[in-house]
Amino acid sequence: MLKEYVKQYFSQFDVLVISILFAFGFLWLIPDMHRIHVWMALAIGMLSYAVSEYLIHRFIFHMNPPKIRWLLAMLKRLHYDHHVSPNQLNLLFLPVWYSLPLIMLAGGAAFFITKDFSLMVAFVTGIMGYLLYYEWTHYIAHQPVQPITPWGRWMKRMHLWHHYKNENYWYGVTNPALDLLFCTYKNEKQVNRSSTARNLEQNDMK
Ligand SMILES: [Zn+2]
Ligand SMILES: [Zn+2]
Ligand SMILES: [Zn+2]
Repeated sequence: MLKEYVKQYFSQFDVLVISILFAFGFLWLIPDMHRIHVWMALAIGMLSYAVSEYLIHRFIFHMNPPKIRWLLAMLKRLHYDHHVSPNQLNLLFLPVWYSLPLIMLAGGAAFFITKDFSLMVAFVTGIMGYLLYYEWTHYIAHQPVQPITPWGRWMKRMHLWHHYKNENYWYGVTNPALDLLFCTYKNEKQVNRSSTARNLEQNDMK
């Protein structure tokens, strides 16, 4: 059964593109694996994604609907519509037209700082590896299946509270670290049900 989910996951266009790029990055790094800095750059890339997962979700994807038409259309595809239809696969994954430019920007910054091509590759490979982990966690959160690990089950529960209880809490998808730090992790029973959890575009009427 898990095999079916793995198959469906990797048949998503955006997941496939990032997976291929991740594999190329990984292959590129094999001759450099003895360098401790390569491993550090990989780890920093992963950590950067783990942090931006929260910040982007909270401050960009949940911002009040902008008046600018193309920006609104973009946010609808990136997140508002995902809250309207949380299980719809074509709204679940971050599209490459969004993720790739950001990854390239991050890679450019890494190269500017390190002046080292392999460290740049390691950094973006770390970002893409964590992105794939994020997408898998998010995908499983919205499939009718129980995650294998207790951690996975906790993350799934947390994300479903964000969708079905109150969208102003539980912004983390793979980890609750920044939710705990910024007090957006609450005891689910002490949080009121939000009437706008399914329709973020109503937010501007508050
Ligand atoms: Zn979400
Ligand atoms: Zn979701
Ligand atoms: Zn959300």
